[in-house]
Amino acid sequence: NDTLVFNQLYYSPRVERLLLMPTATFPAPRLAIVIPCYNEEEVFAFCQQELSALLYAMVQDQMVQPDSFLLFVDDGSRDSTWAQIRTACTEENYIQGLKLSRNEGHQTALLAGLAAAAPQSDAVISIDADLQDDIQAIPRMVACYHAGYDIVYGVRESRQTDTWFKRTSAEGFYRLMAIMGVQQVFNHADFRLLSQRAVKGLLRYAERNVYIRGLVPLVGFPSTEVTYTRGSRTAGESKYPLSKMLGLAMEGITSLTITPLRLIAALGCFICLLSVIAALYVLVQKFSNATVAGWSSLILSIFFMGGVQMLSLGILGEYIGKIYLETKHRPRFHIESVLSRGALAPHSDH
Ligand code: UDP
Ligand code: MG
Repeated sequence: NDTLVFNQLYYSPRVERLLLMPTATFPAPRLAIVIPCYNEEEVFAFCQQELSALLYAMVQDQMVQPDSFLLFVDDGSRDSTWAQIRTACTEENYIQGLKLSRNEGHQTALLAGLAAAAPQSDAVISIDADLQDDIQAIPRMVACYHAGYDIVYGVRESRQTDTWFKRTSAEGFYRLMAIMGVQQVFNHADFRLLSQRAVKGLLRYAERNVYIRGLVPLVGFPSTEVTYTRGSRTAGESKYPLSKMLGLAMEGITSLTITPLRLIAALGCFICLLSVIAALYVLVQKFSNATVAGWSSLILSIFFMGGVQMLSLGILGEYIGKIYLETKHRPRFHIESVLSRGALAPHSDH
């Protein structure tokens, strides 16, 4: 890490100056923890309990301001999740709730939460409701904020508790993204700390469909990582079935890179080159009066070229579809209710 510590001073990349070491009197951030929830009635109570205890401990240690808060975003759940959030909000004044009008997906729900939390906090941490990501990494993230970082990525050091399929598919996806030249933090999902200005930077990306973990590195403020071990879901089942995972992967690729389009062009060049060689071969055969190879080679090349063309058209179509969806400039989400003792400003226009 590039934080140099000399006696009582350390270098802060955020303000680009030497600062006094954080002490109890160091201005601790007003922290918001944003938790998107979709049909999480089974884990909500546990999640609320654990995060509340952690927040309380951090306030006691003067790591964060006493007016720090938890913000639960209900992503159009069809179970009792919202009812539980409502109860929690009426019982505890450090808990806030936001309800989207329908299920918009994890990324959009998270964005809605960040947009609502940022104006009233110095730093925002996002975490999944099932607490698979170790909450003990949160104080370490806050310590990095103290040290001057705007972005702190939570990185899964070990994910033995995920299924073999989830691990392998995730690994394949990260590698694919790397091959296509997309900068992405390996094994980082949506568990991270963002300073207020980093959230504001993120919100300036106006695309309708967001792939947040691909956009955060583009914001580019000083960043660092904390590692942790990923646990298993405490209860309930994954809200990311294969279809949603593939959708997210597709979103990540098409929203961050046009390498697939270039690959089509490269493939086209390669096949052109092959066909020149094949043409020479066929001509030589013709003039040496040998019989030209018949049905098998013909039918194979028709199938092959048909396949290549349909695949290329499909990739092209993905991008065109994306342009179509983006040009409509539809609202990303609608906020149905806001529950807060303070002044949580709804941001329906995002
Ligand atoms: N989630 C959401 N909307 C959705 C799907 C999921 O807000 O449409 C939330 C979910 O409640 C959880 C987080 O996104 O807090 C991650 O989901 P999950 O833990 O099921 O994903 P996994 O850990 O299996 O990848
Ligand atoms: Mg999970």
